[in-house]
Amino acid sequence: MSEINPYEDYVFSLSDEQFSYLVQAVDKRIDSKLYGVTSFEEAALRYERKPVCPKCGSLSNHEDGYTPGGHKRYRCEDCSCSYTLLSDSIFNSAKISLHKLMSYIQLMSFNVPLQLLCEVLDISSNTSELWRKKIFETVNGYQDHLKLYGTIRIDETYLSDYSILHNQFEKRKRGLSKDLICIVTAIDSYKNMVAIISGHGKPSSKRIKDALESHITEGSTIIHDGDRSHNGLIKKLNCASKVYKADSKDPEYLKYMALINNMHGWLKRYIWRFIGMDINNLQSYLNWFIYLQRCRRDNEKWPKTERILRHLVLTDTRFTRKY
Ligand SMILES: [Zn+2]
Repeated sequence: MSEINPYEDYVFSLSDEQFSYLVQAVDKRIDSKLYGVTSFEEAALRYERKPVCPKCGSLSNHEDGYTPGGHKRYRCEDCSCSYTLLSDSIFNSAKISLHKLMSYIQLMSFNVPLQLLCEVLDISSNTSELWRKKIFETVNGYQDHLKLYGTIRIDETYLSDYSILHNQFEKRKRGLSKDLICIVTAIDSYKNMVAIISGHGKPSSKRIKDALESHITEGSTIIHDGDRSHNGLIKKLNCASKVYKADSKDPEYLKYMALINNMHGWLKRYIWRFIGMDINNLQSYLNWFIYLQRCRRDNEKWPKTERILRHLVLTDTRFTRKY
């Protein structure tokens, strides 16, 4: 026999309204235990987000009471505009609770389809789509500052351009490769990686350079398949070139093949979730993918969901609906 739960009768005796308050309180307690905070504002304080004027960017302000929603209000010393700690973040006037958003982030980090998010979290498809856009917005330009070093494996992988495949009126071009979107990838032995869209079909030397030049430290060693399109980049950055030969007995070859094959496999499985989505957002998906890979890599140092929360709270971005 199971133990008697002393709260069971009590919980069943509550009205629907009382019960929903109870659930909210329980959620907050769970969040407090897991993340040390119970709201976005508390998270912003915990991670030391600075109150910056959203209008003029000034940091000088004085505290000025509270908003009707109960948020601490700041008044800009320079332009006298009033704002809150979250004015310039994706949480500005957010209606979703911290608890729900943390579940959203958890599911999103496994790249589950939007419909599943709606179903599990009991949110509308508009809300679900809006939060995905907001979260993608915070990784805009995320790869810009990533720089790989040491021994770096570079390669390309290809995806079908669904926008072309879906257009019945446009004749399919001959030679499949022109219809494929090229993604240039690079990964170093510390598992830093980048994935950059580089037009359609097989890339030229210039396209490889444009995609990777800013992401590779001068003087690194580049391991690649020996395609001539890589030479411009290698020369420009004074890198050593090492052409791998398919040799299943060479442990170094196997190690790098495994790294890049894993990455490409992940990438393809990941992108597959977005079939039917606007292909113009592909670079956003790639940025999010690279961001998650980095969180996974450092998971032992930094619990993943908490790290994502910190990132979201500290990123300045005012998401505007573009319809
Ligand atoms: Zn100002």
